[in-house]
Amino acid sequence: MIRTILFALGLLSLIGVSVVFGLGPALFEQSMNRLTVDSQPSVDSTTLALHKTLVIGDLHADTALWQRPIESRSNRGHVDLERLLEGNITLQMFTTVTKSPRGQNYEENSSEAFDNISLLALIQRWPAATRESLAERALYQADRITQAAADSPHLQVVLNQDDLENVLARRTAGEPIVGALIGTEGSHALDVDVDNVDRLYAAGFRMMSLQHFFDNALGGSLHGESNQGLTSFGEQAVDRMIALGIMIDVAHSSEAVVQDLLARHPVPLIVSHTGFQGHCASPRNISDATMELITTAGGLIGVGFWDGAICGDDVDSIVGAIRYGIDRFGLEHIALGSDWDGAISAPFDAANIAQLTQGLLDAEFSEAEIRAVMGGNMVRFLKNHLPQGG
Ligand SMILES: [Zn+2]
Repeated sequence: MIRTILFALGLLSLIGVSVVFGLGPALFEQSMNRLTVDSQPSVDSTTLALHKTLVIGDLHADTALWQRPIESRSNRGHVDLERLLEGNITLQMFTTVTKSPRGQNYEENSSEAFDNISLLALIQRWPAATRESLAERALYQADRITQAAADSPHLQVVLNQDDLENVLARRTAGEPIVGALIGTEGSHALDVDVDNVDRLYAAGFRMMSLQHFFDNALGGSLHGESNQGLTSFGEQAVDRMIALGIMIDVAHSSEAVVQDLLARHPVPLIVSHTGFQGHCASPRNISDATMELITTAGGLIGVGFWDGAICGDDVDSIVGAIRYGIDRFGLEHIALGSDWDGAISAPFDAANIAQLTQGLLDAEFSEAEIRAVMGGNMVRFLKNHLPQGG
C-alpha cells in the first residue's frame, strides 16, 4: 500500500514537473503578453497603400526573454520574425531583461525583492551560467537573436552603419528583411563590472538602458527606493558606453539619473518605451520638464503601446500620446517604443501595426508626420549614432 502511494506520489510529481517545464513557459507567456482586443478591425486600402511605403522601426521589445523561436511564427506574444515582416517592420530593437522584482510596480520596488527572472530562467531551462550572473542572462538572450539571424536569411543583426545601410537597401529592393538591434533593459546586466560594457558591446549590444524597476549599482530607478542620481560606478559605466558609441536608454531611470547624465555628457539619449506625464499622469512617466532636457539634447522618445504609459489600452490612446509628444517636444524626437513582449497588453501585435497607421490617418496626421514617427526618426537617429564601418 505504502509503495503504491509512493509510486502514485512519484508519478504525480513527475507529471507536475513535466507540466511546469513543458507547458509552463507557454502558459506563463500567454498570461503575460496579451492583446486588448479579440479581433483586429479592418484597415482601409488607402492606409495599406501608405503603410507599405513606410520604413517602420520599434525601439523596444522583450521577445528574447521568452522561450520560443524568434524566427518562426508563434501564436503567443507580440513579436517574431514572421509577424515583423507581415507588419512591414524594418527595424526592431530587442531588449534583454535580466532581473525583475516580485510584486513589480511603478511606485517603489526593492532591489532585494525575490527575482522573477531567476524563476523564469529555471522553468525555461536557461544555461546554468545564467543562475548567478545577470551579464550571462543578457548574453544568452543576445545569442538567441544572433542565432535566429544566423538561421534565417530574413533577419540581420545591425551592429554598425554598413549593416543599417544594407538592411535599408534590401528593404527598398523589396526583399523581406528585418534588422535586429540588441539592447539591455537595465545595466545591472553589467554585474557591477565596467569591463562588461566591452563584453556586451562585443556580443552586439548597441543600446544600454541604465535602470529597470529597482535601484542598481549605476543609480536610482524611477520606480526604486532612493531616487538617487548616477553613482560613481554609474559614471564609469556611462563614460565607457559613450567611449564605445553605445546609445544610452534612460527608460525607467530616476529623473536625477537623467539630470546627472546630461550634466556629465550632454548627448542625445533614448527613452526607449514611455508615455508623457503631461498626457498621462502615470508614475511610469518622467516629468515633461525632464523629457524636455532629453529632447533639447537631441534625444529620441519611443511612445509605448500599453495602458501604464499612455492611460488607455486602444489605438487612439497611442495616437493621442504621439500627438502630445509631437506638439510638446517636436516631431523629430518622437518614435515608437511598443514594449511588445514586455509583460504588457497591446491593441495589436507586430503583424497588425497597420492599425496604428490607420489611427494616425484617422486623426489627420500628415504623411510627413506618419513617416517620421513610424520609423524615419529612428532611422535618422541610428544613422547618427551607430558606429561606423563593418
Ligand atoms: Zn521596461
